[in-house]
Amino acid sequence: MFFDLPEELQMFQRAVRDFCENELKPHAQEIDESASLNMDVIAKMPAMGLTGLQVSEEFGGVEMDTIGASIAVEELGRVCGSTALSVSAHNGLCCGPIMLWGTDEQKQTYLPTLTSGKYLGSLALTEPQAGSDLLNGAKTYAKRDGDGWVINGHKAWITNPMYAPVIVVLCRTDQEAGSRGFSMILVEPNTNGVTLHPPEKKMGVKGSPTQMITFENVRVPASNLLGEEGRGFHQTMQTLDSGRISIGALSVGLAQGAFEEMVKYASERQAFGQSIAQLQLIQEKIANAAMEIEAARTLIYKAAWTKDQGRDYGKLAAIAKLKATEVAEKVCFDAIQVHGSYGYSREYSVERMYRDQRLMTIGEGTSEIQRVVIARRVLKEFNG
Ligand SMILES: Cc1cc2nc3c(=O)[nH]c(=O)nc-3n(C[C@H](O)[C@H](O)[C@H](O)COP(=O)(O)OP(=O)(O)OC[C@H]3O[C@@H](n4cnc5c(N)ncnc54)[C@H](O)[C@@H]3O)c2cc1C
Repeated sequence: MFFDLPEELQMFQRAVRDFCENELKPHAQEIDESASLNMDVIAKMPAMGLTGLQVSEEFGGVEMDTIGASIAVEELGRVCGSTALSVSAHNGLCCGPIMLWGTDEQKQTYLPTLTSGKYLGSLALTEPQAGSDLLNGAKTYAKRDGDGWVINGHKAWITNPMYAPVIVVLCRTDQEAGSRGFSMILVEPNTNGVTLHPPEKKMGVKGSPTQMITFENVRVPASNLLGEEGRGFHQTMQTLDSGRISIGALSVGLAQGAFEEMVKYASERQAFGQSIAQLQLIQEKIANAAMEIEAARTLIYKAAWTKDQGRDYGKLAAIAKLKATEVAEKVCFDAIQVHGSYGYSREYSVERMYRDQRLMTIGEGTSEIQRVVIARRVLKEFNG
């Protein structure tokens, strides 16, 4: 186990932080207010490896380990939740499954495009009537027909479709086979019968597009199957375990960003003849935030490290995501409190961070689902 980041990861972190400070932070407020990503900033990301964090170099990526990928997402989250969410989903939810289960041809076709900085990938699991309970509730159906699949159904709350060259779609391919009746299928959004609905109007992460997708007799070649037929549910669970580390890292970033604003403001704001940072009740918030962020980040690194060791990390990923998202919620809340009325103003970034963090206890498995996962694992370990 490690207690400090290796030198090369520290250098990577500094480089990503500089990039985020100089290239992304100046646009963060506008990204939120215009509810639109800044694709010029995304176009600069391949130079930093941010659009192919865990993709092989031959396809334009930088093949980082999971700790490196988490560091990058944390740094993005520190300055812009919307961009961090879209880049996290792109890397973990779209490039990840294609790297893991794609054929050579699928990798050649999609990964160089995905890592180019011109696009952002998507994964479509959730449906209007089913999020946590995909197994019983997901209805999108792909029927084998000659040399292809014909897909019908609706996906909801999907990140990035408008920027995606390809969407990984979870479909039922056998109505009778339960958890073995799902498959992942690659669908290009410009295929006949695919409708991308307008982006949802959201409370936070407004710049990150979240869309409903309708599939109406969408025909794709049989070779668009990603991985084995019938393994889609298993692939989904694996993808979500990994995605939880990333959403946790994003949450640590949001907490870190709000924490820094809190300390800065507390040091400058005067009340009762001194800076409010001298008041013990304000110091309590600063101390608690420092402690909780450190704890959350350590859990993220531990889950990432365990994954990189090839060990079972599902419980740790759920613990890390749950802790980090709840820490982000509390720290962003306190950051506004320390800012007083100014924290309630759109002029101050803590207002945006507070809205952005609210998604984190919902996406990629709600906090309730994380607790279900953790408790199930603990009970299994305990009772055998
Ligand atoms: C901004 C945004 C981006 C998103 N991006 C994507 C994406 O890219 N791809 C994608 O596929 N999805 C995406 N989602 C969807 C997201 O993953 C789901 O919303 C989430 O999994 C919860 O599903 P649900 O909304 O259907 O809630 P439900 O599953 O209906 O849950 C409703 C409530 O019931 C609780 N609940 C459900 N089951 C249990 C249980 N067993 N025990 C206790 N409580 C329970 C939940 O915790 C929650 O509080 C996104 C959502 C948002 C808002």
